[in-house]
Amino acid sequence: MTITRVWIEEGCICCQACVTSERQVFSIPDGSDSAIILGDVRLDGVSDRNVIARGDLTVAGTQLSDTIEEAAEGCPMDIIRFTTIA
Ligand code: SF4
Repeated sequence: MTITRVWIEEGCICCQACVTSERQVFSIPDGSDSAIILGDVRLDGVSDRNVIARGDLTVAGTQLSDTIEEAAEGCPMDIIRFTTIA
């Protein structure tokens, strides 16, 4: 499975679990009340929850699909969402 887009819905409790799973994709900036998707792995280059733009992942980002899926499965709030291609 290849993940092409990932975003974070509301309700993050900043538990750091997703960051631990994949630091190249997830981050919790100082003072932020939510984890974000890093612009480094997004074609639009924006670092935020990606709920509005729904920016696609870069090729390098899609190569992290396994750990993104792991992060989504491990999120205690079940708010990490993604789209895939087969
Ligand atoms: S695992 Fe879920 S609740 Fe925890 S920091 Fe990441 S998005 Fe937030």
